[in-house]
Amino acid sequence: MDDTERQGPAMGAFLHLRGNALSKGDPVALPLVQSSMYHLPGEPETFSNYGRVHNATWVALEHALEHLEAAPCRIFPSGMGAISAALFATLKAGQRLLIPGDGYYVTRLLSDRYLRQLGVEVVERPTAEFAAGGFAGFDVVFLETPSNPGLDLIDLAAVAGAVRAAGGITICDNTTMTPLGQRPLDLGIDMVVASDTKAMGGHSDLLMGHVATRNSDLLQAVDDWRRISGAIPGPHEAWLLHRGLETLEVRYDRMCASAEVLAPRLAQHPVVRALRYPGLPTDPAHNLARGQMRRFGFLMSLTLENADKAERFINTCPLLRPATSFGGVHSSAERRIRWGDAVDPGFVRLSIGCEPVEELWQALKTSLDGVV
Ligand code: PLP
Repeated sequence: MDDTERQGPAMGAFLHLRGNALSKGDPVALPLVQSSMYHLPGEPETFSNYGRVHNATWVALEHALEHLEAAPCRIFPSGMGAISAALFATLKAGQRLLIPGDGYYVTRLLSDRYLRQLGVEVVERPTAEFAAGGFAGFDVVFLETPSNPGLDLIDLAAVAGAVRAAGGITICDNTTMTPLGQRPLDLGIDMVVASDTKAMGGHSDLLMGHVATRNSDLLQAVDDWRRISGAIPGPHEAWLLHRGLETLEVRYDRMCASAEVLAPRLAQHPVVRALRYPGLPTDPAHNLARGQMRRFGFLMSLTLENADKAERFINTCPLLRPATSFGGVHSSAERRIRWGDAVDPGFVRLSIGCEPVEELWQALKTSLDGVV
């Protein structure tokens, strides 16, 4: 695939979804509906009845997400809220779950601490060998690609096909890519989950998540989970995310383009011992990335000699926020070992933001130069 084919059709039109449906005098910006009660005399008929079940601001947001995912979506108050909904709505006692052993650690914690206690057998496998051993006997296979923080890839189409043939369902955490960068549902995955706290929101001022699926039974199960468990987002967060999505395409394009410029330069710097970025032709996952990703993303990892050098790099760079989380307009970085990830002490996850790329390069280079 060449780059234009890989990136597929432009998706900027979702920006105009709301504008195209306005009547004369309607507000152009999405109204924030902050109400738990609805005026509902007599029989409810088809009217929304209560704020745990319905909110007009959610509906507008889900409409925008649905357009991006090309699938019905349900929003949740965080990425973990979405992941919990997907797993609790699909698994029951006696069933088997396969998850990556090196993906986002809280998903493993949730599976280990809660699902296992409820009688689900949880099996972990490293991302790099995810298909080894096959998928027979697994009811749900959870994937994350590129994995956070190692940025290893899983072949989505191959795993989706094999799991379906073995009678299971697949759930993919697409947080690191967004639907602009990777479309797991198009590759046969049954359900997408994502933390919209990251690039989707993009301004580091909200927590949200969503589930997307084209399977109506799975959608109903997730919908029921939200309504009954009460894991609902606040209307204000939904409003903020809707606003963030209006600039997603511009932000995401800048972030990915900058990462593509910076990765090869950073990889050449003498203090960088190793660098993973799916867009680097030398990356072990590059061929798979070219086949299944529309963009190569804005995340990369660099390994410096030790923790001290990595800390000095992060903390002396004026354009880097030393922070956990990623995908915001401000570039940020952290050593992942501080949360217990199985990585080198000098391993830094770097999230490229929206700063002008040459200014960012000068700032990163100057800090790396100072670490030698
Ligand atoms: N999935 C991945 C890959 C993540 O990196 C994160 C958070 O860092 C989550 C899920 C959880 O998202 P949230 O913090 O919005 O609950």
